[in-house]
Amino acid sequence: MAQIRIENVRKEFGAFTAVQSSSFTVEDGEFFMLLGPSGCGKTTTLRMMAGLELPTSGKIYIDGEEVGMKPASKRDIAFVFQMFALYPHMNVGKNMSYPLISQGMPKADVKKRVLEVAQILGIDHILNKSVGGLSGGDRQRVALGRAIVREPKAFLMDEPLGALDAEFRERMAEELRALHDRMGATTVYVTHDQLEAMQMGDKIVVMNHGVVEQFGVPQDIYDWPATKFVANFIGSPPMNFLDFHGIIGSGFDAVDLAGCKISIPEMREGAEGDLTLGVRPEHIHFSDTSEYRGQVVATEYLGTDQIVTLETPNGEVKARIASSVAVAAGEIIGLEFDSRTLTVFSGPKGHALRSSANEKVLAHG
Ligand code: ATP
Repeated sequence: MAQIRIENVRKEFGAFTAVQSSSFTVEDGEFFMLLGPSGCGKTTTLRMMAGLELPTSGKIYIDGEEVGMKPASKRDIAFVFQMFALYPHMNVGKNMSYPLISQGMPKADVKKRVLEVAQILGIDHILNKSVGGLSGGDRQRVALGRAIVREPKAFLMDEPLGALDAEFRERMAEELRALHDRMGATTVYVTHDQLEAMQMGDKIVVMNHGVVEQFGVPQDIYDWPATKFVANFIGSPPMNFLDFHGIIGSGFDAVDLAGCKISIPEMREGAEGDLTLGVRPEHIHFSDTSEYRGQVVATEYLGTDQIVTLETPNGEVKARIASSVAVAAGEIIGLEFDSRTLTVFSGPKGHALRSSANEKVLAHG
């Protein structure tokens, strides 16, 4: 098992910067997600951890040892790719034995170890089968098994479930997480799927255009996004943004939206100009007494809940409301927000301003 630390790591490909000065730590035994849209630098970051790509600058430590110049084969890390390549001419058992035989492990020990791992993965009954006829899930289990038998210090996984269909993907995600909980091996997992990251990860790094936007536990990232990008990327529907022009000073505990006073957590820093109030759909409530109003544009039935889209003086918002509430298109409805959950964003990059509610999370991020 291993701790992996990334310190100011940067990667340039010619004039293009794929990863800009990233820093974060994957603690020993963590299931750690690298999350972001396509092209944001997740795979490049993972490949640098593995030693398949050299950083342009910055340092990578595995268990406190700087591994910058150490080749991939000497890092004792297993890489599991999306396109899990198995040896087609070997059966399942031979595919799993191969890494151990190449290391020179005695045959009897190899057999024992492969059987143990196959039992953990639930594939001990197919050890003699050819890999050609296996389902996607079993192929993925064999690929994992081949990585696990080596007992590496850490697993690096690049969208390992990307090739599976949605239903199977969910099942494999649960299996992977359960497997991790049993083995406790440090795992770094690349995904562009925010739900997968929230469901599986102990911690998440959110990347955008090569920049680490936020790093923390899933709930902190959901509740207290550090930037508008994170607020928008995480959550379905994402956080609503109510744009307004104004001044906020340290100590303020309300903002003015279209002449209505909206309570917010007490601010710890100020800003002025174009600002945005961020509110999650589930933190908007209908209220007969609220003077802040929106007009219903659309409703989307989701079973227990419905998503109601409303036009407000500060832009469109989506509210998650119980389906039992009757809502008609065109209706004008008073809106109330859960004050303690609100975030104010400012500046060209839309950074969250520090408040009594988010300051602890932002200090750690
Ligand atoms: P995806 O999910 O699409 O793989 P990603 O977040 O993993 O995206 P990377 O594969 O790390 O992104 O790529 C980040 C950027 O670096 C992309 O714009 C990509 O085109 C570029 N890039 C990656 N490898 C190279 C390379 N060897 N040479 C030039 N550019 C590269």
